[in-house]
Amino acid sequence: MEPSSFPPVYLAEGYATLRDLRDRKVLQDTDRDSLREYNGGAMVPCLDANHFEDLYLHHAKLSASRRLAPITRPGGGVCVASTSPLAVAECDGQLVNERLSVLRSMDVAVHHLGIRSCYLYGHFPCKACWLAGMNVRDQFQALVDAKAELKERYEEPNKHFVVALMFHRAILNKDDTWGPRKTYHVKRELVVEYLKTPPPPYVAVPMAADEWSTDVQSLTDH
Ligand SMILES: [Zn+2]
Repeated sequence: MEPSSFPPVYLAEGYATLRDLRDRKVLQDTDRDSLREYNGGAMVPCLDANHFEDLYLHHAKLSASRRLAPITRPGGGVCVASTSPLAVAECDGQLVNERLSVLRSMDVAVHHLGIRSCYLYGHFPCKACWLAGMNVRDQFQALVDAKAELKERYEEPNKHFVVALMFHRAILNKDDTWGPRKTYHVKRELVVEYLKTPPPPYVAVPMAADEWSTDVQSLTDH
């Protein structure tokens, strides 16, 4: 997978949306308090090799329990929503239900390992989402829907079940190298409001890495 195979307009629109979300505090910095853990956490990231290490090392650093159950699928948490184009995929002429695959793993984590926290990760740019025709707004809508469905499935009276929405962003430089990377905590209530508004106009030019220079999450900082 060559990074350059992302269309410039897709990147420009996505980065503009993410910057808007960051400026509106829909995307917030992560710290240990933003990862509320109850007996460990199931994390659902995309299997995209361009972002996983950064995402995982950051998450593991913040995790109080270091008791993490990884459930990786194309698109990560985005494939969990029943409304998601990534919920079902075709392989060798048969349909593969990615959503049920995650739920099956989540059942083991919740019912047999006693894990009561879940972290649904989206990321940008995401090849799986792009191939499925999803832009960043579609990704956030799927994450919101997935959270509601998981709460419905696993919440029990007098027992915590936390679903946190997380988002990892990597800047793709014009020379196809990767620039600043960062993990955000998504405020669900704020992103729901944001998704009710029409998309803002954006400049169809990929943003330079230096526009995010204060937003660096380097591995050495972990
Ligand atoms: Zn991806």
